[in-house]
Amino acid sequence: MDVTLEPATHGFKGTAKLVYTNNSPDTLREVFFHLYLNAFQPGSEMDVRSRTIADPDDRVGGRIAALTPEQEGRIQVKELVQDGKPATLEELGTVLKVKLPKPLLPKRSTSFDYEFVGQVPVQIRRSGRDNAEGVAYSMTQWYPKLAEYDQRGWHAYPYVGREFYGVWGDFDVTLHVDSAYTIAATGMLQDPERIGHGYPLGKKALKRPGTAQLTWHFIAKNVHDFAWAADKEFKHTTEQVPNGPLLHFFYKDTPEMEATWKELPAYMVRSFQHMNTHFGTYPWPQYSFVQGGDGGMEYPMLTLITGNRRLGSLVGVSVHESVHSWYYGLLASNEGRFPWMDEGFTEYAGSEVMQELFPAPDDPHASAFTGYRALVNSGKHEAPSTPADHFITNRAYGTTAYSFGELFVHQLGTVVGEKDLKAGLLRYFDVCKFKHPEPIDLERVMEKQSGVELDWYFDEWINTTRTLDYGIRSVLAMNGELRVELERIGEQLMPVDLRVERRDGSSTTYHVPLSLERGAKRAVSEALPFTLCDPWQWTDPTYTLTIPGPLAAIKSVTIDPLGRTAEIDATNNTVEFPLGTEGFAKP
Ligand SMILES: [Zn+2]
Repeated sequence: MDVTLEPATHGFKGTAKLVYTNNSPDTLREVFFHLYLNAFQPGSEMDVRSRTIADPDDRVGGRIAALTPEQEGRIQVKELVQDGKPATLEELGTVLKVKLPKPLLPKRSTSFDYEFVGQVPVQIRRSGRDNAEGVAYSMTQWYPKLAEYDQRGWHAYPYVGREFYGVWGDFDVTLHVDSAYTIAATGMLQDPERIGHGYPLGKKALKRPGTAQLTWHFIAKNVHDFAWAADKEFKHTTEQVPNGPLLHFFYKDTPEMEATWKELPAYMVRSFQHMNTHFGTYPWPQYSFVQGGDGGMEYPMLTLITGNRRLGSLVGVSVHESVHSWYYGLLASNEGRFPWMDEGFTEYAGSEVMQELFPAPDDPHASAFTGYRALVNSGKHEAPSTPADHFITNRAYGTTAYSFGELFVHQLGTVVGEKDLKAGLLRYFDVCKFKHPEPIDLERVMEKQSGVELDWYFDEWINTTRTLDYGIRSVLAMNGELRVELERIGEQLMPVDLRVERRDGSSTTYHVPLSLERGAKRAVSEALPFTLCDPWQWTDPTYTLTIPGPLAAIKSVTIDPLGRTAEIDATNNTVEFPLGTEGFAKP
Protein backbone atom coordinates (compact mmCIF):
# COMPACT_ATOMS: atom_id res chain seq x y z
CA MET A 1 0.00 0.00 0.00
CA ASP A 2 1.10 3.56 -0.67
CA VAL A 3 -0.88 6.02 1.42
CA THR A 4 -0.92 9.78 1.94
CA LEU A 5 -2.50 11.32 5.05
CA GLU A 6 -3.71 14.95 4.95
CA PRO A 7 -3.87 16.19 8.55
CA ALA A 8 -5.67 19.39 7.44
CA THR A 9 -8.79 17.43 6.42
CA HIS A 10 -8.11 14.09 8.21
CA GLY A 11 -8.52 12.50 4.79
CA PHE A 12 -6.24 9.89 3.29
CA LYS A 13 -5.89 8.20 -0.04
CA GLY A 14 -3.95 5.22 -1.18
CA THR A 15 -3.19 2.66 -3.81
CA ALA A 16 -2.79 -1.02 -3.16
CA LYS A 17 -1.55 -4.08 -4.96
CA LEU A 18 -2.66 -7.30 -3.34
CA VAL A 19 -1.41 -10.69 -4.48
CA TYR A 20 -3.88 -13.27 -3.20
CA THR A 21 -3.29 -17.02 -3.17
CA ASN A 22 -6.20 -19.42 -2.88
CA ASN A 23 -4.95 -22.16 -0.54
CA SER A 24 -8.42 -23.70 -0.26
CA PRO A 25 -9.74 -26.63 -2.32
CA ASP A 26 -12.57 -24.38 -3.60
CA THR A 27 -12.92 -22.12 -6.63
CA LEU A 28 -13.57 -18.53 -5.51
CA ARG A 29 -15.90 -16.40 -7.66
CA GLU A 30 -16.00 -13.48 -5.27
CA VAL A 31 -13.91 -12.01 -2.48
CA PHE A 32 -14.87 -9.71 0.40
CA PHE A 33 -13.15 -6.77 2.01
CA HIS A 34 -13.87 -5.15 5.38
CA LEU A 35 -14.53 -1.40 5.26
CA TYR A 36 -14.38 -0.90 9.02
CA LEU A 37 -14.29 2.91 9.11
CA ASN A 38 -17.79 3.05 7.60
CA ALA A 39 -19.05 1.84 10.99
CA PHE A 40 -18.50 5.36 12.32
CA GLN A 41 -21.50 6.83 10.52
CA PRO A 42 -24.96 7.54 11.93
CA GLY A 43 -27.28 4.61 11.24
CA SER A 44 -24.51 2.03 10.77
CA GLU A 45 -24.87 -1.45 12.25
CA MET A 46 -22.38 -0.47 14.97
CA ASP A 47 -24.31 2.72 15.73
CA VAL A 48 -27.68 0.96 16.04
CA ARG A 49 -26.31 -2.01 17.97
CA SER A 50 -24.44 0.25 20.39
CA ARG A 51 -27.66 2.11 21.23
CA THR A 52 -30.09 -0.83 21.34
CA ILE A 53 -28.08 -3.42 23.28
CA ALA A 54 -29.37 -3.87 26.83
CA ASP A 55 -26.18 -2.63 28.50
CA PRO A 56 -24.52 -0.07 26.18
CA ASP A 57 -20.75 0.41 26.14
CA ASP A 58 -20.42 4.07 27.12
CA ARG A 59 -17.38 4.45 24.85
CA VAL A 60 -19.75 4.03 21.89
CA GLY A 61 -23.45 4.21 22.80
CA GLY A 62 -25.04 7.25 21.15
CA ARG A 63 -21.76 8.86 20.08
CA ILE A 64 -21.82 7.59 16.49
CA ALA A 65 -25.33 8.93 15.92
CA ALA A 66 -24.07 12.41 16.81
CA LEU A 67 -21.18 12.49 14.30
CA THR A 68 -21.24 15.25 11.65
CA PRO A 69 -20.03 14.55 8.10
CA GLU A 70 -16.67 16.12 9.00
CA GLN A 71 -16.35 13.89 12.07
CA GLU A 72 -17.50 10.55 10.71
CA GLY A 73 -15.36 7.76 9.29
CA ARG A 74 -15.29 6.75 5.67
CA ILE A 75 -13.46 4.26 3.51
CA GLN A 76 -14.22 3.54 -0.11
CA VAL A 77 -12.55 1.44 -2.79
CA LYS A 78 -12.61 3.54 -5.97
CA GLU A 79 -12.06 0.78 -8.47
CA LEU A 80 -10.55 -2.64 -8.38
CA VAL A 81 -8.84 -4.44 -11.20
CA GLN A 82 -8.13 -8.18 -11.14
CA ASP A 83 -5.21 -9.15 -13.38
CA GLY A 84 -6.03 -6.19 -15.66
CA LYS A 85 -9.83 -6.70 -15.72
CA PRO A 86 -12.18 -4.40 -13.74
CA ALA A 87 -14.30 -6.15 -11.10
CA THR A 88 -17.88 -5.35 -10.05
CA LEU A 89 -18.06 -3.85 -6.56
CA GLU A 90 -21.02 -3.99 -4.19
CA GLU A 91 -20.65 -1.99 -0.99
CA LEU A 92 -22.87 -2.82 1.96
CA GLY A 93 -21.96 -0.79 5.03
CA THR A 94 -18.71 -2.13 6.39
CA VAL A 95 -18.36 -4.93 3.83
CA LEU A 96 -17.37 -4.79 0.17
CA LYS A 97 -18.26 -7.67 -2.14
CA VAL A 98 -16.02 -8.02 -5.18
CA LYS A 99 -17.34 -10.17 -8.03
CA LEU A 100 -14.28 -11.52 -9.77
CA PRO A 101 -14.12 -11.20 -13.55
CA LYS A 102 -12.00 -14.36 -13.51
CA PRO A 103 -12.71 -17.17 -10.99
CA LEU A 104 -9.75 -17.96 -8.73
CA LEU A 105 -8.97 -21.67 -8.88
CA PRO A 106 -7.48 -23.67 -5.99
CA LYS A 107 -3.73 -23.20 -5.51
CA ARG A 108 -3.67 -20.24 -7.90
CA SER A 109 -2.75 -16.65 -7.22
CA THR A 110 -4.30 -13.50 -8.57
CA SER A 111 -3.55 -9.84 -8.23
CA PHE A 112 -5.87 -7.00 -7.21
CA ASP A 113 -4.96 -3.38 -7.91
CA TYR A 114 -7.16 -0.74 -6.33
CA GLU A 115 -7.35 2.80 -5.08
CA PHE A 116 -9.02 3.85 -1.88
CA VAL A 117 -9.98 7.08 -0.16
CA GLY A 118 -10.94 7.54 3.46
CA GLN A 119 -11.59 9.94 6.29
CA VAL A 120 -10.32 9.31 9.82
CA PRO A 121 -13.27 9.60 12.24
CA VAL A 122 -13.21 11.38 15.55
CA GLN A 123 -12.06 8.62 17.87
CA ILE A 124 -15.06 6.57 19.05
CA ARG A 125 -13.88 2.99 19.41
CA ARG A 126 -10.35 1.67 18.86
CA SER A 127 -9.47 3.79 15.80
CA GLY A 128 -9.76 7.49 15.03
CA ARG A 129 -8.29 10.92 15.54
CA ASP A 130 -7.79 13.04 18.64
CA ASN A 131 -8.35 10.41 21.32
CA ALA A 132 -9.18 11.34 24.91
CA GLU A 133 -5.49 11.78 25.73
CA GLY A 134 -4.82 13.97 22.69
CA VAL A 135 -3.06 11.41 20.48
CA ALA A 136 -3.59 12.66 16.93
CA TYR A 137 -4.07 9.48 14.89
CA SER A 138 -4.91 5.92 15.99
CA MET A 139 -4.91 4.24 12.56
CA THR A 140 -6.45 0.84 13.17
CA GLN A 141 -9.10 -0.98 11.09
CA TRP A 142 -8.31 1.80 8.62
CA TYR A 143 -7.70 0.29 5.16
CA PRO A 144 -9.82 -2.01 2.94
CA LYS A 145 -8.93 -5.34 4.54
CA LEU A 146 -9.42 -8.68 2.83
CA ALA A 147 -11.82 -11.01 4.69
CA GLU A 148 -10.78 -14.53 5.64
CA TYR A 149 -11.94 -17.61 3.73
CA ASP A 150 -11.41 -20.85 5.67
CA GLN A 151 -12.92 -24.33 6.00
CA ARG A 152 -16.17 -22.65 7.08
CA GLY A 153 -16.24 -20.36 4.03
CA TRP A 154 -16.16 -16.56 4.04
CA HIS A 155 -16.13 -14.52 7.23
CA ALA A 156 -17.25 -11.17 5.87
CA TYR A 157 -18.46 -10.00 9.26
CA PRO A 158 -19.86 -6.47 9.42
CA TYR A 159 -18.15 -4.27 12.02
CA VAL A 160 -20.67 -4.20 14.85
CA GLY A 161 -18.35 -3.79 17.80
CA ARG A 162 -16.38 -6.89 18.57
CA GLU A 163 -13.16 -8.27 17.25
CA PHE A 164 -11.44 -9.56 14.17
CA TYR A 165 -10.11 -12.30 11.94
CA GLY A 166 -7.63 -11.85 9.16
CA VAL A 167 -5.62 -13.32 6.31
CA TRP A 168 -1.91 -14.06 6.75
CA GLY A 169 0.29 -12.01 4.49
CA ASP A 170 3.37 -9.88 4.00
CA PHE A 171 2.68 -6.16 4.26
CA ASP A 172 4.78 -3.53 2.48
CA VAL A 173 3.36 -0.14 3.40
CA THR A 174 4.57 3.34 2.46
CA LEU A 175 3.12 6.30 4.38
CA HIS A 176 3.49 9.96 3.33
CA VAL A 177 2.87 12.16 6.36
CA ASP A 178 3.79 15.68 7.54
CA SER A 179 7.37 15.40 8.81
CA ALA A 180 6.42 16.81 12.23
CA TYR A 181 4.66 13.53 13.16
CA THR A 182 6.35 10.55 14.77
CA ILE A 183 4.87 7.29 13.48
CA ALA A 184 4.63 3.91 15.19
CA ALA A 185 3.54 1.00 13.01
CA THR A 186 3.32 -2.74 12.55
CA GLY A 187 6.53 -3.93 10.91
CA MET A 188 10.13 -2.85 10.52
CA LEU A 189 10.91 0.70 9.44
CA GLN A 190 13.13 0.60 6.35
CA ASP A 191 15.99 3.12 6.05
CA PRO A 192 15.53 4.71 9.51
CA GLU A 193 18.46 7.03 8.72
CA ARG A 194 16.08 8.96 6.42
CA ILE A 195 13.55 9.30 9.27
CA GLY A 196 15.13 9.58 12.72
CA HIS A 197 12.24 10.25 15.16
CA GLY A 198 13.84 7.94 17.73
CA TYR A 199 14.35 4.91 15.46
CA PRO A 200 17.78 3.31 16.03
CA LEU A 201 20.07 4.15 13.12
CA GLY A 202 22.71 1.47 13.67
CA LYS A 203 26.04 2.72 12.38
CA LYS A 204 24.48 5.15 9.90
CA ALA A 205 24.19 8.91 10.33
CA LEU A 206 20.82 10.67 10.12
CA LYS A 207 20.22 12.04 6.61
CA ARG A 208 16.67 13.31 6.73
CA PRO A 209 15.41 15.17 3.67
CA GLY A 210 14.18 18.69 4.41
CA THR A 211 10.78 18.05 2.82
CA ALA A 212 7.42 18.95 4.35
CA GLN A 213 6.40 15.29 4.25
CA LEU A 214 8.47 12.25 5.15
CA THR A 215 8.07 8.91 3.40
CA TRP A 216 7.90 6.07 5.92
CA HIS A 217 8.35 2.54 4.59
CA PHE A 218 7.36 -0.40 6.80
CA ILE A 219 7.62 -4.12 6.05
CA ALA A 220 5.86 -6.76 8.16
CA LYS A 221 6.04 -10.42 7.24
CA ASN A 222 3.50 -13.09 8.13
CA VAL A 223 0.97 -10.94 9.97
CA HIS A 224 -2.80 -10.55 9.52
CA ASP A 225 -3.27 -6.81 10.00
CA PHE A 226 -1.39 -3.55 9.81
CA ALA A 227 -1.91 -0.70 12.30
CA TRP A 228 -0.16 2.59 12.95
CA ALA A 229 -0.38 5.73 15.02
CA ALA A 230 0.99 9.24 14.57
CA ASP A 231 1.48 12.20 16.89
CA LYS A 232 3.70 15.27 16.98
CA GLU A 233 4.48 14.89 20.69
CA PHE A 234 5.46 11.23 20.84
CA LYS A 235 8.58 10.44 22.81
CA HIS A 236 10.14 7.28 21.38
CA THR A 237 12.44 4.94 23.32
CA THR A 238 13.58 1.36 22.79
CA GLU A 239 14.60 -1.59 24.98
CA GLN A 240 16.10 -4.88 23.81
CA VAL A 241 14.72 -8.21 25.06
CA PRO A 242 17.76 -10.53 25.34
CA ASN A 243 17.36 -13.14 22.56
CA GLY A 244 14.04 -11.50 21.74
CA PRO A 245 12.51 -8.56 19.93
CA LEU A 246 13.43 -4.88 20.20
CA LEU A 247 10.68 -3.17 22.18
CA HIS A 248 9.59 0.35 21.21
CA PHE A 249 7.69 2.77 23.44
CA PHE A 250 5.79 5.78 22.08
CA TYR A 251 4.09 8.17 24.52
CA LYS A 252 3.18 11.81 24.91
CA ASP A 253 6.27 13.68 26.02
CA THR A 254 4.87 15.08 29.29
CA PRO A 255 6.14 14.79 32.90
CA GLU A 256 3.06 12.74 33.95
CA MET A 257 3.64 10.12 31.24
CA GLU A 258 7.40 10.10 31.81
CA ALA A 259 6.93 9.15 35.46
CA THR A 260 5.29 5.81 34.67
CA TRP A 261 6.34 5.05 31.10
CA LYS A 262 10.04 5.16 32.00
CA GLU A 263 9.39 2.23 34.38
CA LEU A 264 7.53 0.18 31.78
CA PRO A 265 10.39 -1.20 29.59
CA ALA A 266 12.02 -3.25 32.38
CA TYR A 267 8.68 -4.95 33.17
CA MET A 268 7.96 -5.65 29.52
CA VAL A 269 11.37 -7.25 28.97
CA ARG A 270 10.57 -9.68 31.80
CA SER A 271 7.07 -10.25 30.40
CA PHE A 272 8.41 -11.21 26.96
CA GLN A 273 11.03 -13.46 28.57
CA HIS A 274 8.38 -15.28 30.63
CA MET A 275 6.13 -15.71 27.60
CA ASN A 276 8.99 -16.96 25.40
CA THR A 277 9.95 -19.56 27.99
CA HIS A 278 6.52 -20.79 29.02
CA PHE A 279 4.19 -20.18 26.07
CA GLY A 280 6.36 -20.25 22.91
CA THR A 281 8.87 -18.02 21.16
CA TYR A 282 7.79 -14.63 19.82
CA PRO A 283 8.94 -14.74 16.18
CA TRP A 284 8.95 -11.13 14.98
CA PRO A 285 11.90 -8.75 15.35
CA GLN A 286 10.07 -5.94 17.15
CA TYR A 287 7.07 -4.94 19.26
CA SER A 288 5.73 -1.44 20.00
CA PHE A 289 3.77 -0.11 22.98
CA VAL A 290 1.97 2.99 21.71
CA GLN A 291 -0.17 5.53 23.53
CA GLY A 292 -3.43 5.78 21.59
CA GLY A 293 -6.85 4.25 21.10
CA ASP A 294 -9.40 3.98 23.90
CA GLY A 295 -8.16 1.45 26.43
CA GLY A 296 -6.07 -1.35 25.05
CA MET A 297 -6.20 -3.10 21.70
CA GLU A 298 -3.88 -5.61 20.16
CA TYR A 299 -2.43 -5.51 16.65
CA PRO A 300 0.43 -7.41 15.03
CA MET A 301 3.76 -6.23 16.49
CA LEU A 302 2.02 -3.30 18.18
CA THR A 303 -0.57 -2.31 20.74
CA LEU A 304 -2.46 0.94 21.27
CA ILE A 305 -3.14 1.64 24.96
CA THR A 306 -4.30 4.67 26.87
CA GLY A 307 -1.29 5.95 28.76
CA ASN A 308 -2.51 8.10 31.62
CA ARG A 309 -2.51 5.35 34.26
CA ARG A 310 -0.85 4.43 37.52
CA LEU A 311 2.13 2.13 37.04
CA GLY A 312 0.32 -1.10 38.03
CA SER A 313 -2.46 -0.42 35.54
CA LEU A 314 0.01 0.56 32.81
CA VAL A 315 1.97 -2.66 33.33
CA GLY A 316 -1.25 -4.70 33.50
CA VAL A 317 -2.68 -3.43 30.23
CA SER A 318 0.73 -3.68 28.54
CA VAL A 319 1.12 -7.30 29.65
CA HIS A 320 -2.39 -8.20 28.49
CA GLU A 321 -2.10 -6.55 25.08
CA SER A 322 1.40 -7.83 24.33
CA VAL A 323 0.44 -11.37 25.43
CA HIS A 324 -2.22 -11.16 22.72
CA SER A 325 0.71 -11.52 20.29
CA TRP A 326 0.68 -15.22 21.13
CA TYR A 327 -3.07 -15.84 20.84
CA TYR A 328 -4.44 -13.12 18.56
CA GLY A 329 -1.16 -12.62 16.68
CA LEU A 330 0.35 -16.08 16.21
CA LEU A 331 -2.37 -18.65 16.76
CA ALA A 332 -4.97 -16.19 15.45
CA SER A 333 -8.19 -18.02 16.19
CA ASN A 334 -11.28 -16.37 14.73
CA GLU A 335 -12.13 -13.78 17.40
CA GLY A 336 -15.61 -13.32 15.97
CA ARG A 337 -16.43 -17.00 16.31
CA PHE A 338 -14.28 -18.12 19.27
CA PRO A 339 -13.61 -14.98 21.31
CA TRP A 340 -12.76 -17.01 24.43
CA MET A 341 -9.84 -18.66 22.60
CA ASP A 342 -8.19 -15.27 22.24
CA GLU A 343 -9.20 -13.18 25.25
CA GLY A 344 -9.42 -16.12 27.65
CA PHE A 345 -6.03 -17.59 26.79
CA THR A 346 -4.51 -14.10 26.87
CA GLU A 347 -6.00 -13.58 30.33
CA TYR A 348 -4.67 -16.95 31.47
CA ALA A 349 -1.10 -16.32 30.27
CA GLY A 350 -1.25 -12.66 31.32
CA SER A 351 -2.24 -13.65 34.87
CA GLU A 352 0.77 -15.99 34.99
CA VAL A 353 3.05 -13.14 33.84
CA MET A 354 1.57 -10.73 36.42
CA GLN A 355 2.16 -13.35 39.13
CA GLU A 356 5.80 -13.45 38.00
CA LEU A 357 6.11 -9.63 38.02
CA PHE A 358 4.13 -9.03 41.23
CA PRO A 359 4.21 -12.29 43.26
CA ALA A 360 1.20 -12.77 45.54
CA PRO A 361 0.06 -15.72 47.68
CA ASP A 362 -3.35 -16.01 45.99
CA ASP A 363 -4.28 -18.04 42.92
CA PRO A 364 -3.62 -15.54 40.08
CA HIS A 365 -6.68 -16.92 38.25
CA ALA A 366 -9.13 -16.59 41.16
CA SER A 367 -10.84 -13.51 39.71
CA ALA A 368 -11.85 -15.50 36.62
CA PHE A 369 -14.00 -17.75 38.82
CA THR A 370 -15.46 -14.78 40.68
CA GLY A 371 -16.49 -13.06 37.44
CA TYR A 372 -17.96 -16.23 35.96
CA ARG A 373 -20.01 -17.02 39.10
CA ALA A 374 -21.37 -13.47 39.22
CA LEU A 375 -22.47 -13.76 35.58
CA VAL A 376 -24.18 -17.12 36.20
CA ASN A 377 -25.92 -15.73 39.28
CA SER A 378 -27.13 -12.71 37.26
CA GLY A 379 -29.10 -15.03 34.95
CA LYS A 380 -27.41 -13.51 31.86
CA HIS A 381 -25.07 -16.42 31.22
CA GLU A 382 -24.90 -17.55 27.56
CA ALA A 383 -23.13 -20.50 25.96
CA PRO A 384 -19.45 -19.66 25.38
CA SER A 385 -19.83 -20.86 21.77
CA THR A 386 -22.03 -17.82 21.01
CA PRO A 387 -20.44 -15.70 18.23
CA ALA A 388 -18.92 -12.53 19.70
CA ASP A 389 -21.27 -9.96 18.15
CA HIS A 390 -24.34 -12.04 18.97
CA PHE A 391 -24.22 -12.13 22.77
CA ILE A 392 -27.35 -10.46 24.14
CA THR A 393 -25.39 -8.28 26.57
CA ASN A 394 -21.94 -6.72 26.60
CA ARG A 395 -21.55 -8.18 30.06
CA ALA A 396 -22.14 -11.77 28.92
CA TYR A 397 -19.68 -11.32 26.07
CA GLY A 398 -17.03 -9.75 28.30
CA THR A 399 -17.24 -12.22 31.15
CA THR A 400 -17.48 -15.21 28.83
CA ALA A 401 -14.60 -14.23 26.53
CA TYR A 402 -12.26 -13.10 29.32
CA SER A 403 -13.20 -14.83 32.59
CA PHE A 404 -14.75 -18.05 31.31
CA GLY A 405 -11.94 -18.39 28.77
CA GLU A 406 -9.29 -18.06 31.49
CA LEU A 407 -11.20 -20.41 33.79
CA PHE A 408 -11.60 -22.97 30.98
CA VAL A 409 -7.81 -23.22 30.61
CA HIS A 410 -7.02 -23.11 34.32
CA GLN A 411 -9.69 -25.69 35.19
CA LEU A 412 -8.39 -28.00 32.45
CA GLY A 413 -5.35 -28.40 34.70
CA THR A 414 -7.48 -30.25 37.25
CA VAL A 415 -8.54 -32.68 34.51
CA VAL A 416 -5.24 -33.38 32.71
CA GLY A 417 -2.85 -32.35 35.49
CA GLU A 418 -0.95 -29.10 35.89
CA LYS A 419 2.26 -30.20 34.19
CA ASP A 420 0.46 -31.68 31.19
CA LEU A 421 -1.60 -28.49 30.91
CA LYS A 422 1.57 -26.39 30.72
CA ALA A 423 3.27 -28.79 28.30
CA GLY A 424 0.05 -28.97 26.28
CA LEU A 425 -0.14 -25.20 25.93
CA LEU A 426 3.41 -25.11 24.54
CA ARG A 427 2.57 -27.99 22.21
CA TYR A 428 -0.62 -26.21 21.10
CA PHE A 429 1.46 -23.15 20.25
CA ASP A 430 4.01 -25.18 18.26
CA VAL A 431 1.42 -27.25 16.38
CA CYS A 432 -1.15 -24.51 15.67
CA LYS A 433 0.77 -21.23 15.25
CA PHE A 434 -0.07 -19.43 12.01
CA LYS A 435 -3.02 -21.83 11.50
CA HIS A 436 -6.15 -20.16 12.97
CA PRO A 437 -6.93 -23.03 15.41
CA GLU A 438 -10.48 -23.87 16.49
CA PRO A 439 -11.56 -25.62 19.71
CA ILE A 440 -11.08 -29.04 18.11
CA ASP A 441 -7.39 -28.28 17.52
CA LEU A 442 -6.81 -27.50 21.18
CA GLU A 443 -8.80 -30.58 22.22
CA ARG A 444 -6.71 -32.84 20.00
CA VAL A 445 -3.41 -31.46 21.33
CA MET A 446 -4.51 -31.74 24.97
CA GLU A 447 -5.74 -35.31 24.44
CA LYS A 448 -2.43 -36.31 22.86
CA GLN A 449 -0.47 -34.62 25.65
CA SER A 450 -2.43 -36.13 28.54
CA GLY A 451 -3.89 -39.40 27.27
CA VAL A 452 -7.28 -38.23 28.59
CA GLU A 453 -10.35 -38.13 26.34
CA LEU A 454 -11.78 -34.61 26.50
CA ASP A 455 -14.86 -34.56 24.23
CA TRP A 456 -17.16 -34.03 27.24
CA TYR A 457 -15.08 -31.09 28.52
CA PHE A 458 -15.10 -29.22 25.22
CA ASP A 459 -18.66 -30.18 24.24
CA GLU A 460 -20.43 -29.38 27.49
CA TRP A 461 -18.44 -26.45 28.85
CA ILE A 462 -18.33 -24.56 25.55
CA ASN A 463 -21.71 -25.34 24.04
CA THR A 464 -24.01 -25.23 27.07
CA THR A 465 -24.75 -23.03 30.08
CA ARG A 466 -24.86 -25.98 32.46
CA THR A 467 -23.23 -25.32 35.80
CA LEU A 468 -21.00 -27.38 38.04
CA ASP A 469 -22.00 -28.41 41.53
CA TYR A 470 -20.84 -31.53 43.33
CA GLY A 471 -21.66 -32.15 46.98
CA ILE A 472 -21.02 -34.57 49.82
CA ARG A 473 -24.10 -36.68 50.54
CA SER A 474 -22.86 -38.76 53.44
CA VAL A 475 -19.76 -39.92 55.33
CA LEU A 476 -20.49 -43.02 57.40
CA ALA A 477 -18.34 -45.46 59.41
CA MET A 478 -18.60 -49.09 58.40
CA ASN A 479 -16.40 -51.93 59.70
CA GLY A 480 -13.63 -49.53 60.73
CA GLU A 481 -13.62 -47.84 57.31
CA LEU A 482 -15.45 -44.78 56.06
CA ARG A 483 -17.85 -44.69 53.12
CA VAL A 484 -17.96 -41.28 51.44
CA GLU A 485 -20.91 -40.75 49.13
CA LEU A 486 -20.58 -37.91 46.61
CA GLU A 487 -23.44 -36.53 44.51
CA ARG A 488 -23.64 -34.54 41.31
CA ILE A 489 -26.15 -31.74 41.87
CA GLY A 490 -25.44 -29.51 38.85
CA GLU A 491 -25.66 -30.87 35.32
CA GLN A 492 -22.09 -30.04 34.36
CA LEU A 493 -19.41 -32.75 34.40
CA MET A 494 -15.96 -32.80 36.00
CA PRO A 495 -13.70 -35.32 37.68
CA VAL A 496 -13.60 -34.79 41.44
CA ASP A 497 -10.64 -34.09 43.71
CA LEU A 498 -11.39 -34.92 47.33
CA ARG A 499 -9.12 -34.08 50.25
CA VAL A 500 -9.38 -35.91 53.56
CA GLU A 501 -7.69 -34.07 56.45
CA ARG A 502 -6.87 -35.91 59.65
CA ARG A 503 -6.49 -34.71 63.20
CA ASP A 504 -2.78 -35.60 63.19
CA GLY A 505 -2.23 -32.97 60.48
CA SER A 506 -1.80 -35.42 57.61
CA SER A 507 -4.05 -35.47 54.57
CA THR A 508 -4.78 -37.58 51.49
CA THR A 509 -6.12 -36.36 48.15
CA TYR A 510 -8.29 -38.72 46.11
CA HIS A 511 -8.95 -38.23 42.42
CA VAL A 512 -12.18 -39.62 40.95
CA PRO A 513 -12.01 -39.49 37.14
CA LEU A 514 -15.07 -39.57 34.91
CA SER A 515 -15.71 -42.74 32.93
CA LEU A 516 -15.80 -40.50 29.83
CA GLU A 517 -12.12 -39.66 30.25
CA ARG A 518 -10.96 -43.21 29.40
CA GLY A 519 -8.05 -42.51 31.71
CA ALA A 520 -7.04 -39.87 34.22
CA LYS A 521 -4.41 -37.26 34.86
CA ARG A 522 -1.02 -38.75 35.55
CA ALA A 523 0.32 -38.62 39.10
CA VAL A 524 3.57 -37.07 37.80
CA SER A 525 1.58 -34.22 36.29
CA GLU A 526 0.53 -32.81 39.66
CA ALA A 527 2.71 -31.23 42.33
CA LEU A 528 0.55 -32.78 45.09
CA PRO A 529 0.38 -36.59 45.08
CA PHE A 530 -3.08 -38.15 44.82
CA THR A 531 -4.69 -41.56 45.13
CA LEU A 532 -6.47 -42.55 41.93
CA CYS A 533 -9.97 -44.00 42.40
CA ASP A 534 -12.17 -46.04 40.08
CA PRO A 535 -13.91 -43.87 37.47
CA TRP A 536 -17.32 -42.35 38.18
CA GLN A 537 -19.74 -43.91 35.66
CA TRP A 538 -20.99 -40.59 34.36
CA THR A 539 -24.68 -41.49 34.21
CA ASP A 540 -24.70 -42.25 37.97
CA PRO A 541 -25.97 -39.37 40.10
CA THR A 542 -23.85 -40.54 43.06
CA TYR A 543 -20.47 -42.16 43.68
CA THR A 544 -19.15 -43.93 46.76
CA LEU A 545 -15.55 -44.36 47.78
CA THR A 546 -14.12 -46.10 50.80
CA ILE A 547 -11.30 -44.52 52.80
CA PRO A 548 -9.43 -45.71 55.91
CA GLY A 549 -11.03 -44.84 59.27
CA PRO A 550 -11.71 -44.51 62.05
CA LEU A 551 -13.99 -41.49 61.93
CA ALA A 552 -12.43 -40.11 65.11
CA ALA A 553 -9.17 -39.59 63.14
CA ILE A 554 -10.83 -37.46 60.45
CA LYS A 555 -11.02 -33.66 60.69
CA SER A 556 -12.69 -32.80 57.39
CA VAL A 557 -13.54 -33.96 53.86
CA THR A 558 -13.45 -31.40 51.03
CA ILE A 559 -14.36 -31.44 47.34
CA ASP A 560 -12.09 -29.33 45.09
CA PRO A 561 -9.78 -28.37 47.99
CA LEU A 562 -7.72 -25.92 45.89
CA GLY A 563 -10.76 -24.09 44.49
CA ARG A 564 -9.67 -24.96 40.97
CA THR A 565 -13.10 -25.71 39.48
CA ALA A 566 -16.08 -23.51 38.64
CA GLU A 567 -18.18 -24.97 41.48
CA ILE A 568 -21.22 -22.73 41.55
CA ASP A 569 -22.05 -23.60 45.17
CA ALA A 570 -19.04 -24.26 47.37
CA THR A 571 -21.09 -24.37 50.58
CA ASN A 572 -21.75 -28.11 50.13
CA ASN A 573 -18.11 -28.94 49.36
CA THR A 574 -16.78 -29.45 52.89
CA VAL A 575 -17.92 -31.51 55.84
CA GLU A 576 -16.15 -31.01 59.18
CA PHE A 577 -16.12 -33.63 61.92
CA PRO A 578 -15.91 -32.21 65.45
CA LEU A 579 -14.71 -34.77 68.04
CA GLY A 580 -17.44 -37.23 68.93
CA THR A 581 -19.31 -36.93 65.62
CA GLU A 582 -20.97 -40.14 64.52
CA GLY A 583 -20.84 -39.41 60.80
CA PHE A 584 -22.59 -37.15 58.35
CA ALA A 585 -25.68 -37.57 56.21
CA LYS A 586 -27.28 -34.83 54.20
CA PRO A 587 -30.73 -34.05 55.63
ZN1 LIG B 1 -7.66 -8.57 25.15
